[in-house]
Amino acid sequence: MKIYDFLIIGAGSAGCNIAHFLHQEGKTVAVVDREGIAGGASGAAGAFLSPLAGKQNLYNTCVNEALKFSLDFYQKLIPDAIDKKGVLRVINAHFKEEKLKDNNIKYDYLDAKKLQKISKNFREIDGYFYKNAAVLEPMKFCKKLIEGCDYYTKDVKEFTFENDFYTIEDIKVKNIILAQGVSNPLVALPYMQISPIFGLRIDVKTTTAVPFNIHKSISVSTNKQDGTISLGATHERHDTAKTNCSTTCDKCQFYINTEEVQIKTLLNQADALMKLEDLEIVKIYKGARATIKSYFPVIGKIIDYEKSMKKYPSIKNGTKISADTLEYYPNLYVINALGSRGFVFGPYLAKILSENIIRDTPIPKELSTQKLFYKLARTKLID
Ligand SMILES: Cc1cc2nc3c(=O)[nH]c(=O)nc-3n(C[C@H](O)[C@H](O)[C@H](O)COP(=O)(O)OP(=O)(O)OC[C@H]3O[C@@H](n4cnc5c(N)ncnc54)[C@H](O)[C@@H]3O)c2cc1C
Repeated sequence: MKIYDFLIIGAGSAGCNIAHFLHQEGKTVAVVDREGIAGGASGAAGAFLSPLAGKQNLYNTCVNEALKFSLDFYQKLIPDAIDKKGVLRVINAHFKEEKLKDNNIKYDYLDAKKLQKISKNFREIDGYFYKNAAVLEPMKFCKKLIEGCDYYTKDVKEFTFENDFYTIEDIKVKNIILAQGVSNPLVALPYMQISPIFGLRIDVKTTTAVPFNIHKSISVSTNKQDGTISLGATHERHDTAKTNCSTTCDKCQFYINTEEVQIKTLLNQADALMKLEDLEIVKIYKGARATIKSYFPVIGKIIDYEKSMKKYPSIKNGTKISADTLEYYPNLYVINALGSRGFVFGPYLAKILSENIIRDTPIPKELSTQKLFYKLARTKLID
């Protein structure tokens, strides 16, 4: 029997980052994943890191703080697996100058003429250039993050809790952290309804020099250190019959568009931004990212919804009940719903969660499990 302080279920950006920060705190950590390291959305991600412009609000402030923290963190961790050359946000109906007013992120406006001076391969586009943006190699980072932890390929179906320890087959742990992405959670989390949004990344070789990342409704990366560029988008939908993720995306039968159509669409969208010469497809990745309605990611201790509602039925009527007195699963935490910014949020959230676990520092309300719990409890939809 192996004994650890923490078991992390899910070896994506969320799981590997929290494993890293807990290991840095001197804890013994095991990580498990049924698909292998970065076998879910994280391995498929284009892994672009960009600021979120627009009038300042709680969400873009959170994204931009996370970006600052995470860029610095990644550059120190593996400098040669991250390319920080900035991003051009191309103007479209939703992204115009008016949207940038009151925005405190500095940018340079580049029209088509200026862009074509940089490279004749730019199409007739114009946009805003932000220098604090990058693209990284997701697999390299996930592997590096869990150095010093034990990793097992394992499909966890259930766990039991007895005498202050959880048992999962031959592993005993004091604490579990669920970092499961779009998969069904191993305990009931009715207040955290995850919607999967599917996407595609194509790594290609080209003789064209792409000076920086380009983003419109899809993303095109700069030439990365491995000699490829990544094209990525997460817009694909399932047909209405099936939405539960029972297999990995590359084996999934339920896309509305065939793989051929998905690839063609993405290549056409990339071509509308820049002509990529001598293009050769190297690898295709598919994945599904986990999103919830509020867009904010979620971290913290897992509240037992049923037990808490039984203990305090009047929560439904708006009675204020302190978060400390709710019923929690013992030593069970979650880090999930990283949305389209899993690599921007990963290190930032993991740092906050690890400090909360080790030093009991507070979790910002907008990221907390409590916020979602109270929201559902007060909708009176569940008794
Ligand atoms: C095509 C695509 C492009 C994207 N582009 C970007 C981008 O440019 N920038 C960005 O920041 N983000 C991007 N994202 C989003 C980003 O990939 C996700 O937000 C992030 O990877 C989520 O990480 P995660 O660890 O929460 O989930 P995942 O990476 O999906 O990891 C969850 C893991 O849990 C495992 N698991 C679940 N249940 C169990 C169980 N019971 N037992 C064992 N293992 C289990 C799964 O196998 C999976 O590997 C993109 C996503 C996709 C799909």
